[in-house]
Amino acid sequence: WDDEHEVVIIGSGFAGLAAAIESTRQGAKDVAIFEKMAMFGGNSTLNAGQACFTGTALQKKHNIQDSPEMMVADQLKSGRGYASKELLTVSAELGDYCYQLTKDCGSVYRDHIITTGGHSATRAHQVVERSGAGIIQPMLKTARKLGVKTVTRHKFEHLIRDKKGRVIGVQIRKGYHFGHEDSGEIINVKAQRGVIIATGGFGYNIALRQAQDPTLTAEVGCTNAKGATGDGLIEMMAAGATPLHLAFIQSGPWASPDEGGFGYGAGFSLYNFPHSIAIDRNTGQRFMNEIADRKTRADLEIQRRDKDGNPNPALLIAPKHEAKNDPSMEHVLEYNVAWEFESVEAIAKHFDVPLKPLKQQIADWNGYIDTGVDPQFGKRMDAARGVKLTPPFIVQRLWPKVHYCQGGIQINRKAEVLAAKTGKPIPGLFAAGEVTGGIHGVSRLGACATPECLAFGVVAARSVMEA
Ligand code: ADP
Repeated sequence: WDDEHEVVIIGSGFAGLAAAIESTRQGAKDVAIFEKMAMFGGNSTLNAGQACFTGTALQKKHNIQDSPEMMVADQLKSGRGYASKELLTVSAELGDYCYQLTKDCGSVYRDHIITTGGHSATRAHQVVERSGAGIIQPMLKTARKLGVKTVTRHKFEHLIRDKKGRVIGVQIRKGYHFGHEDSGEIINVKAQRGVIIATGGFGYNIALRQAQDPTLTAEVGCTNAKGATGDGLIEMMAAGATPLHLAFIQSGPWASPDEGGFGYGAGFSLYNFPHSIAIDRNTGQRFMNEIADRKTRADLEIQRRDKDGNPNPALLIAPKHEAKNDPSMEHVLEYNVAWEFESVEAIAKHFDVPLKPLKQQIADWNGYIDTGVDPQFGKRMDAARGVKLTPPFIVQRLWPKVHYCQGGIQINRKAEVLAAKTGKPIPGLFAAGEVTGGIHGVSRLGACATPECLAFGVVAARSVMEA
């Protein structure tokens, strides 16, 4: 062995960092996180910094009626029969613990809780930075303070197992440079208690994602960090673990085709969807509930085509008087991801939308705000109350991008990795976060990855410390 630790964690996103911190809370003295990229945090830094927790003091302060059972019910619906009630319940019941954990690390949440698609209660807590970095950076600092060894440019290559099949360590490429697969030197690291794999998804492994879903060609944009190549998943499959639901790859319905990666458009549209409308450019009319679950919206958005069948991204039309209350508006305007218009006529002219139906649609929508009922798509209107769609308008184009892999490796409620041959745990091996599969089923609801990654990081740590 070249190196040895009590607990070995691979990956430094929400799942890996939560596992590290909780391991120390459970008494671990020697924990190490190995990260292959030059930066910590992975995909977990690339999001709007929203997490759905239930039963928090902040929800209580705002008199929001909610419970883990309600959240699980929403998630099961979105999972379309494939989600795991057992695992979702584990995650939801740890919601308040994880919220506290991030606050203990120093994260600061906005007072305003957000309504996001597919949720029956308002429960998306958002950090003031409006970015996952507002959770990752305090967690990283805390982990280091607690004595966790954290290193970048260390790529996990293989699991090392003893004769009985127990995972006893990992092979690491030390000094790895992303994109140069034979860079660095190979070292063998012993894991006294066990290995926790928290390497995230495979949204950037184009061959693997396209093999699962042929529509996800190289031309389809991706919001992920470049390191999301499925390494941990592939290695665990090689060790006989069970892959689950790999074809369920989610595209983000809030993405903009006018910028790369996750971008600023996501923050803008997430903020504005509840009180704004999405318009088909051919008809000038709405075509979806703007806060339906992600799959429903992404599937409908990608059907917007011109008469030759080419993509014709829909328009999100938001009222500036409300949009300006979120800093994302300045960003989208500055980077040409959205544009300001003084009138409905100006929008129709610029985007070649039929004016009459568009005017009628906006008038109808403003009527729904008065009645509190959306007869077109049954949208929850509570978050739109009193927010009329009046000029000036801010308009963003909408086109889905590959965002999240619901599929991954199968775990049980203790975050133990299950072998395909026996259905039993592979001793010494635990997994948490996006690398795992089967929790969310067909479609994960928004702002539910962060709580799940944190919760199963915590669970994996508790299990490894029992092992
Ligand atoms: P999660 O949200 O599930 O925690 P993230 O994508 O945020 O997932 O984090 C996963 C992290 O794991 C990323 O920082 C990624 O670079 C890292 N990672 C992926 N593959 C490897 C590997 N082979 N060795 C070490 N780190 C890896």
